[in-house]
Amino acid sequence: MKTALITGASRGIGRATALKFAKSGYCVAINYNKNTEMAESLRQEIKSLGARAEIFRADISDCSEVQKMVADMKDKFGRIDVLVNNAGIALPQGLFTDFGEDDIKSVFDTNVIGMMNCTKAVTKHMVHNKSGQIVNISSVWGTIGGSCEVIYSASKAAVIGFTKALAKELAPSGIRVNCVAPGLIETDMNSHLTHNEKAEFAEGVALGRIGKAEEVAETVFFLASEAASYITGEVLSVDGGII
Ligand code: NAP
Repeated sequence: MKTALITGASRGIGRATALKFAKSGYCVAINYNKNTEMAESLRQEIKSLGARAEIFRADISDCSEVQKMVADMKDKFGRIDVLVNNAGIALPQGLFTDFGEDDIKSVFDTNVIGMMNCTKAVTKHMVHNKSGQIVNISSVWGTIGGSCEVIYSASKAAVIGFTKALAKELAPSGIRVNCVAPGLIETDMNSHLTHNEKAEFAEGVALGRIGKAEEVAETVFFLASEAASYITGEVLSVDGGII
C-alpha cells in the first residue's frame, strides 16, 4: 500500500489532505507539532474509514526530530511514496520594519528550513526507490507578495524557488516536485480575521469567496497522482482567481 507523509496534518489544509489521501487508499503519516489531541482524533477518524494512519510528533524546524520521524515512518510503513510539505506558520499582519530578528527566524525556520529538513530526510528513500512525489504548500503571497505579510511572503516565495530547482534535480531519479499556492482558505491560520475582513478579501476574488481546505487538498492529491505524471516544477494556484 502506498504511503504519504503530510506535515502539519493535525489541523486545516494538512488535515483535509490527510483525509483525502486516506480515502484514496493511502497509509497516512500524520505529522504535527503541539496538538496531540487533534492528531489523534484524525488518526481515529481515518481508522473509522477503514484506512491506516499513524501520528508522528516532530517540530519540522528541528533536523534531528525530522530524521527520527522519517526513520520511524519507514519502520512502521516500510516505504514513503509521497511527501506533502504543508506545515507552516504566519505572523500577525504588520509592517516589515516592526518585526524583529526572532520573528523572521521563526517563520523561515518552519516554512523554509522545516520544508528542507523533511524533503532531505525523505528524498534519500525516494531516490533509492527511483520514485516519489513531493508537493509543497506555498501561498498566493509567495507569488504576488502581500503588504504587511512581507516575511511570510518571502518565505513562501522561497518555497516556489525550492520547488522549481528541486524538480530539475530530482527528475532523473523519477521524483516529481510540485507546489500549490492557495489563496485565503478558511482555517485556524485566519481565525483572527473578522467576518467583514474575509468578505472584503472575497471582493478581490473572481469566484467571490474564500476557499475551503478540501479544495486545496484535492489539488495536492492531483499533483501527487498519476493523473499529473507529466507535471513537475509547477506552481498551481488554488485561489478562486485573484482580481
Ligand atoms: P493551520 O490551520 O494554522 O495549521 C498549521 C499546521 O501546521 C498545524 O497542523 C500545526 O501543528 C503545523 N505546524 C506548525 N508549525 C509546525 C512545526 N514547526 N512542526 C510541525 N508542524 C507544525 O494552517 P493552514 O491554514 O492549514 O496552513 C497550512 C499551510 O498552508 C501552511 O504552510 C500555510 O502557510 C499555507 N497556506 C495557508 C493559507 C490559508 O489561508 N489558510 C493560504 C495560503 C497558504 P500543531 O497543530 O501541532 O500546532
